[in-house]
Amino acid sequence: MIAEVIVDIAAGETDRIYDYLCGGDTVPGSRVRAPFGGKVVPGFVMRVKETTDVPPDRLKRVFPCPDELPALNRECLFLAEKLTARYRVPKALVLRLFLPSEMRTGKVRELMKNYVSLCVPPEEMKLAKSAKNQLGAAAYLAEHGETESGFLNGLFPGSVRALTEKGYAKTVKKQRLRDPYGGLEGSGALHELTPDQRAAVETIGRDERTVQLLHGVTGSGKTEVYLTLIADCLRRGKSAIFLVPEISLTPQMLSQLRARFGRNAAIMHSGLSAGERFDEWWRLRTGEAKIAIGARSAVFAPLENLGVVIVDEEHDSSYSSETAPRYNTFDVAYLRAKYNGCKLVLGSATPSVDTYKRAMDGEFGLIRLDKRINRRPLPEIEIADMRREVRRGNNTSFSEPLRAELEKCLASGNQAILFLNRRGYSQTVICKECGYVAKCEACDVSLTYHRDEDCLKCHYCGARYKVPRACPECGGTKLSYAGTGTQRIEAELKKLYPGARVLRMDNDTTSGKEGHYKILKAFAEKKADILVGTQMIAKGHDFPSVTLVGILDADMSLHFSDYRSGERTFQLITQVAGRSGRAEEKGKVVLQTFSPENDVLRYAVAYDYEGFYRNEISLRAAAMFPPFSKIVRVLVTGEDEKKTVEALRSVYVSLERLYTENAEKFLFFNRMHAPIKRIQNKFRYQVLMRLSDTSVLPRVYDICAEARTRDALVSVEENPANLS
Ligand code: ADP
Ligand code: ZN
Repeated sequence: MIAEVIVDIAAGETDRIYDYLCGGDTVPGSRVRAPFGGKVVPGFVMRVKETTDVPPDRLKRVFPCPDELPALNRECLFLAEKLTARYRVPKALVLRLFLPSEMRTGKVRELMKNYVSLCVPPEEMKLAKSAKNQLGAAAYLAEHGETESGFLNGLFPGSVRALTEKGYAKTVKKQRLRDPYGGLEGSGALHELTPDQRAAVETIGRDERTVQLLHGVTGSGKTEVYLTLIADCLRRGKSAIFLVPEISLTPQMLSQLRARFGRNAAIMHSGLSAGERFDEWWRLRTGEAKIAIGARSAVFAPLENLGVVIVDEEHDSSYSSETAPRYNTFDVAYLRAKYNGCKLVLGSATPSVDTYKRAMDGEFGLIRLDKRINRRPLPEIEIADMRREVRRGNNTSFSEPLRAELEKCLASGNQAILFLNRRGYSQTVICKECGYVAKCEACDVSLTYHRDEDCLKCHYCGARYKVPRACPECGGTKLSYAGTGTQRIEAELKKLYPGARVLRMDNDTTSGKEGHYKILKAFAEKKADILVGTQMIAKGHDFPSVTLVGILDADMSLHFSDYRSGERTFQLITQVAGRSGRAEEKGKVVLQTFSPENDVLRYAVAYDYEGFYRNEISLRAAAMFPPFSKIVRVLVTGEDEKKTVEALRSVYVSLERLYTENAEKFLFFNRMHAPIKRIQNKFRYQVLMRLSDTSVLPRVYDICAEARTRDALVSVEENPANLS
């Protein structure tokens, strides 16, 4: 027999299929080891056939790998074909997405695992205050009992060894995980579904359209709908994929799923140890586990017979991959739903404008949950006008209304979250007296201040502007370039409220995933009164005692230089506000801004998604921004400037030809430095296009695939989430 084999080496020039001699029992999807260029390299069998054109004396034989099952099932092979065709990336790269890296590197599957448990109660341990990981691990074990060591080490690095060496904990090897939560309890819902939830579940089942958008306000019980859909799948003998943004930030969701589905749920989670990750993958591949839960990479879960694919918080930007091969999670999820003839359910309180338009156009089904469970009111959002604060001489980061609310909140023993929006490194110029923001004359998006060149730039057309010394609107000189950092907020808070306990969560305080977990846990246990943080804290956490949320600088995202800044701001405000008043007590939100009359803010304050959407879609139509066009960025990066420029030149020449031949399909075409010229020692150049007609897109992918060299990476991004 002859096998068509993809050799698993990333170099572009080997991206083709080779014929090899193979054993009669070889099946598509199996891994093999193939002699290639004087070496033996790993490979995948794509097809098996009877004959080949390769002359017999040149035909080599592959060696099978001793896997119990072919690594890739039929659906994976189908998806791989589709994705390579769509994104024009080497097949080997796409195939890798389907496998845990442990498999590729040839590590043997761990059959035995270590479990750790306490020998001494935490109170009796003599641990230094600074031994945070050991303290954290001890507390975790006291609460949860015996835990797989790899998992615990993922949360608290180094803790297992440290605790066992001191004799505070012991580890035992075991063949299998005990089932900590007792399986699929009754497989029903923990809550009786409300009539609205029930109707949502039924509509999703009944409607013929593949994609269903579940638009439900925060706290409307979307999760319960998802869990019911999943339970229904299991009952019908099918499997399910449940995607959440940044799973490491949502331990609550994990334990909920484990509690409901026990060993039926496999978690694809970067916090797991390598062995655990492999085991979870394997459980899915063999069908022992039927539910894959995880961040975007879980869309590649090796499941068969899918009954539903769920994408929670579908608007979240973490669903588009920013590393090669760049893929859009929605595209993959859609292909899988189509392949299996099942539903793709997208859920959000603030759907992306693109998704919502497709629902409005009738392409997707649309289901609304517009009431919170138990009719709890959404928290009131009060706008604090920061221009007035500045005029009154208040130079702190806290407006009068926010301070008044903070004091009330602290006095009543509740908790507050202060949210600071610092995204990326780019900053805009704002007049603190009138709220003026510098915008590009051609594109009508906010300009970004570039410190290195001391100028303002438009990220969409590359135009440069001089930095104004005074405000062109009011002549004021209080121009602000930089937002305030979380550290400064923390310091200001400590000065204002010396008695308050403040926790800070940002990239500096959260090294690794476990950092998040620890801070959130401490806050949930009321070990602090105020949590200060960046967008990390906006996501799905449930803190019942939080009754106040302060959004310190709504402007930072409102005037971020992105055509989606309005959309992002609306989403952020809604998500962050959703953190307040989740339990019995009423919540409150104070939103500080220099542009209180801004439309997006007004709609957000009124929780008026529809109004926001109508306004936004008409702006997009007028400016011909997506979804009325497609922004395409071709990014050329490389370590050697000369070779990178060479690659850029070759892509540019071909793209320019495409442009001149199809000028009517382009709204914009230009080459420029990427706004940030070097990241991690790589030179970056880009060709930016805005297409009114996407029929040229496959050509763009072709051109870029051809221009890829050993020294320069050429990638294509569609509507990139970030233009830096
Ligand atoms: P969302 O995901 O829409 O923001 P959640 O799924 O987190 O909302 O639900 C909000 C709260 O309501 C949760 O505490 C959840 O346990 C509770 N809840 C959900 N469905 C029901 C129900 N049918 N009956 C009672 N409580 C429910
Ligand atoms: Zn511009």
